[in-house]
Amino acid sequence: MIVEILIAVLWFGTTFYSIWYIFGAKTYQPLTLDNLALQWKLHKQKTGSKAKLIHSMIKRNNEIVGFKCECKYEYQQKRLITQRVHKKTEAKQCS
Ligand SMILES: [Zn+2]
Repeated sequence: MIVEILIAVLWFGTTFYSIWYIFGAKTYQPLTLDNLALQWKLHKQKTGSKAKLIHSMIKRNNEIVGFKCECKYEYQQKRLITQRVHKKTEAKQCS
């Protein structure tokens, strides 16, 4: 009986964790300066923004995760954990 309860608890736990893992967990990806410059360039190309400077950086836990443009455009690098895992496996296949 105790074993059955334990199995049920574990099963529910795993199920909820999987659902959270697949659908819920979004992480902020730190942005390198190169990447930031590239994203800003892309934003200016796409929107025709005439801004000459990035207004400010968006930081989380002392890491740059995005920027605000002078035209009030905001960019934040968000990724699903599952996408990151997918990327890692791709990298493994390449090497
Ligand atoms: Zn802009």
